Amino acid sequence: MIHPDTELRFVSPEVGYGVFATRRIPRGTITWALDPLDRRWSALEAEALGPAFEPILRRYGYLDEEGQRVISWDHGRYVNHSCAPTTASGGDDHFEVALRDIEAGEEITDDYGEFLADEYFACRCGAPTCRGDVGLGSPLEELARDQLRERVQEALIAGRVLPQPLLAFALDRARIERALELGTQAVEPEPLA
Ligand SMILES: [Zn+2]
Repeated sequence: MIHPDTELRFVSPEVGYGVFATRRIPRGTITWALDPLDRRWSALEAEALGPAFEPILRRYGYLDEEGQRVISWDHGRYVNHSCAPTTASGGDDHFEVALRDIEAGEEITDDYGEFLADEYFACRCGAPTCRGDVGLGSPLEELARDQLRERVQEALIAGRVLPQPLLAFALDRARIERALELGTQAVEPEPLA
């Protein structure tokens, strides 16, 4: 579920729609949380839908850490990519957090590099820090992820004392509360190869 202080707006024929703040959303606010109404498909289930559905799943869904395609039931599925995003994943694909204060009228964006395990696209987000190629294979991807991780930690610490209206709807509320408590992503670090 996307934060209640947001709305869907038409951006341009090229971009389509986007999600915008209707009020100020402070840094550390949980801006999206996986909720019980969101739909998830395993790789097998997604394939069984047939090839006609593939572009829809790719456009509106994301690939979670378990390889499932997830599509938000509300306008959360219209959040656009930016190489300078206003929000980022809390680390385990269960929620998103505001990386900085988002003023009313500003767009809620995400760095899709986090969600592209099997593809990439040529980015035209217009950010001064635009990486060009986003996703698998881009040499800047690793660096971008490390920088995002640090900012997510700081944001979560700031989020501890904020109202968090999405907690009441989260599929795994305890997981988000734990992350806010720790100020870090609630996932095990990758073992060293
Ligand atoms: Zn870009």
